[in-house]
Amino acid sequence: MIAIYPGSFDPITLGHLDIIKRGCRLFERVIVAVLRNPHKTPLFTVQERLDQIQQSTQHLPNIEVDSFEGLTVNYAQMRQAQVLLRGLRVLSDFEAELQMAHTNKTLSTQIETIFLATSNEYSFLSSSLVKEIARFGGSVDHLVPQHVALDIYRCYAQNHPTSTLTRTNPVPPLNQSPLDQEV
Ligand code: ADP
Repeated sequence: MIAIYPGSFDPITLGHLDIIKRGCRLFERVIVAVLRNPHKTPLFTVQERLDQIQQSTQHLPNIEVDSFEGLTVNYAQMRQAQVLLRGLRVLSDFEAELQMAHTNKTLSTQIETIFLATSNEYSFLSSSLVKEIARFGGSVDHLVPQHVALDIYRCYAQNHPTSTLTRTNPVPPLNQSPLDQEV
């Protein structure tokens, strides 16, 4: 079975990686798919996120990293995947994820959504939280892969008056509500 793990991954966290590693043990192939969403203002470009995921998962043999636009079920069909893999952390995730799974079922009866419960140590962790900590100067070394932490510090450093680092696109505001998700 081929599983798609769709998401924003802005940026990838150790919580995402935990789901990816466990997914790789369950499925023949896991395709981590970054959604190209014109309605969100991400911290990292799609290409930056693809590079970050690629670098974080290079030790896993049955993984592929890709991006897509539009409906997730259409992308899954195009990739001949049977499963959408999603992670569940807290009760509020469940409500939004269940709605999304039901909606996707109305669009394609062939594709199943499978949820993996977060590992305990990552149940609090989200990309938004990581950005919020970094934005106020806190360390995110324990929350994301090391190279991603460096990318994040670089991004926020450009806003610092003493920084010599530059970035072409300005740092956007923190992401919308966690319920503002796509189908
Ligand atoms: P989206 O915008 O689609 O929610 P995210 O990148 O925030 O994209 O999340 C992608 C998937 O990973 C979602 O199913 C989300 O619930 C799951 N996820 C995010 N963080 C964690 C975590 N710490 N533990 C388990 N699953 C997680």
